[in-house]
Amino acid sequence: MAQSVWGYDSDNGPERWHENYPLAKGDKQSPIEINSKEVQHDPSLSSWHASYDPGAAKTILNNGRTCRVVFDDTFDRSVLRGGPLTGAYRLRQLHLHWGSSDEHGSEHVIDGVKYAAELHMVHWNPKHGNFAGALKQPDGVAVVGIFLKVGNTPKPEMKRILEEIENIKTKGKEAPFLHFDPSILFPKSRDYWTYHGSFTTPPCEECITWILLREPIEVSSDQGKEAPFLHFDPSILFPKSRDYWTYHGSFTTPPCEECITWILLREPIEVSSDQVNSSQSCCSVTFLAVDSEKLPSEWTVGMGCKTDPDNQVLLQEQEQGSDDELFCG
Ligand SMILES: [Zn+2]
Repeated sequence: MAQSVWGYDSDNGPERWHENYPLAKGDKQSPIEINSKEVQHDPSLSSWHASYDPGAAKTILNNGRTCRVVFDDTFDRSVLRGGPLTGAYRLRQLHLHWGSSDEHGSEHVIDGVKYAAELHMVHWNPKHGNFAGALKQPDGVAVVGIFLKVGNTPKPEMKRILEEIENIKTKGKEAPFLHFDPSILFPKSRDYWTYHGSFTTPPCEECITWILLREPIEVSSDQGKEAPFLHFDPSILFPKSRDYWTYHGSFTTPPCEECITWILLREPIEVSSDQVNSSQSCCSVTFLAVDSEKLPSEWTVGMGCKTDPDNQVLLQEQEQGSDDELFCG
């Protein structure tokens, strides 16, 4: 059964990326954990500056893993200079790494702590001709990383990005995103940590000068209400056992279309009475990218095989461990 080549599950997560992307085992891999007490101060490092043209913003898109704002990088329109960099690097795109809860979204770990999210502004060195060429060079790319934490003084500028996510709810969807100056997202302090590392997603090219801003920016938990689900893996809700009952039936709410193959898991999952109380009002999560590759193979196949062609209610019991007979051609 097709399996995503890389992801964040146990069978395709970061510890196995190197099987398909040998670079992922390199010695300059990101993200890293930063212990702020062990960081060396380098007096030769200057401050960095960005001069961004708001007119360079083009679109916002959902690539199935995150949302990305894309900028015109055909000339030195929006550039980053200084700090550890030599020359000007062009802004190409920014994107977010969100977790499935307020605490676990950031990629870099600071003093043992993960922030709610991490924003990456990706720039490339035009002396290498184009972005693809820059990826092959150790000084090819510079990424500014900004940490996001949930707090009481949210940065209003984040609002626009988070609102725009509403318009790009499905994988591959793109919407215009014009006149936006990303420097409004910078925290007050320009203090940074820097190191030479890699992209944090395969193929993990080791071409990045990281500039991680020490001061996080704040978002309200309200602002994060939708966004954390950009990176939520619903399979964490499954019980241990994959045993199920199946029958062909209908939606349980009007107009009750009879189009559903039900797969009822036999083993319940547990919630505390606290959790039950807080979910009195109904909520639903809309999946931006329904990724059928994420379904365990025996289920995908099971759904195809167990539909009753006569549309009569058919109760069947399928035990785990009999994969072979589920394959029907
Ligand atoms: Zn990133």
